[in-house]
Amino acid sequence: MTLETAPETARSAVATEGVAAETPTPSVPADANAHCPGVGSEGAGQADACAGCPNQTFCKTGQASKIIDPAPAEIAERLRDSIGSTYLVLSGKGGVGKSTFTSQLAWALSDSEKPEAVLAANPDMEAETTVAVLDVDICGPSQPRMLGCEGEQVHQSQSGWSPVYVSDTLCVMSVGFMLPRNDEAVIWRGPRKNGLIKQFLRDVAWGPQDFLLVDTPPGTSDEHLSLLTYLKQAGIDGAIVLTTPQDVACQDVRRILTFCRKVGVPIVGIVENMSTFVCPSCHQSSVIFPPTSGGGAALAAEFGVPLLGQIPLDPRIGKACDFGHSFLEEHPESPAAEAYRSIVAKIQEIAAQKAT
Ligand code: SF4
Repeated sequence: MTLETAPETARSAVATEGVAAETPTPSVPADANAHCPGVGSEGAGQADACAGCPNQTFCKTGQASKIIDPAPAEIAERLRDSIGSTYLVLSGKGGVGKSTFTSQLAWALSDSEKPEAVLAANPDMEAETTVAVLDVDICGPSQPRMLGCEGEQVHQSQSGWSPVYVSDTLCVMSVGFMLPRNDEAVIWRGPRKNGLIKQFLRDVAWGPQDFLLVDTPPGTSDEHLSLLTYLKQAGIDGAIVLTTPQDVACQDVRRILTFCRKVGVPIVGIVENMSTFVCPSCHQSSVIFPPTSGGGAALAAEFGVPLLGQIPLDPRIGKACDFGHSFLEEHPESPAAEAYRSIVAKIQEIAAQKAT
């Protein structure tokens, strides 16, 4: 689907984003107090639970339903029944391989089986793992290419926008599907990005998925703040933070880790990408980016979070992404594939703790 050729409903929804009329619906706003009785309730603004709430004046005077965005509650309702665990993939810096990591992690997770403990506790559950990727790197959407579905169309169904399936267990949604050409620049201000992210979360019919991996732009930008707002009620299970070993990358990753702490997003762990270079021919290992301050391991220790893994640099990973293939499927015996499998096992274990 492109903005010019998309089904009318989906395209106009994107095109009018940011100015679309919202139907006010009484609900629990994203910034409400913990035991909010609901803005449409009798006690709205006057109940004990309302003390100190930033919306109290509006609720007391009956105006809250006009100004409060119902989207976080709607998104929570949609995701509650369809998504097992939601993880953000974050990096402080561009160029550390975040989108590459997201795509290969998605391939690897979708090719793995759920842990035995989960299957034992839920005998009717399918063993295969289903994964959805949401690409909110709006100015540089690369997931369609990396997952081998560039040029595919997004279709509209009764239940919402259908994501693009790249295998039986892996699907993706990205603004990349909506651009008329691959080299089209997306020059959008914050409110427009915010509106599209809201639509992705609220209007995409993901179907049942064990994991939702959200590929974000580097740093902390409008996209991150939109995700936090709209996922506040649905909940974010955690952030997987990517770095490379050199100090300049670690410095920026510190900012992301601090950001997560400030906004209350749990940190699942740190992944150090491009840890070493392992020659695909002679298998000799060389350090390309020296970890002058200790790299990902030191960072993980400093923040008291797990080091999920260290992925060696392998030029065949970039090639697999260029062709939209799974690196693990093509080079299962490589050290990088082994590192990915180890990360997948850890993420499956973390998700299993939630499911059992
Ligand atoms: S003031 Fe309104 S939004 Fe805040 S807790 Fe009370 S009912 Fe909920």
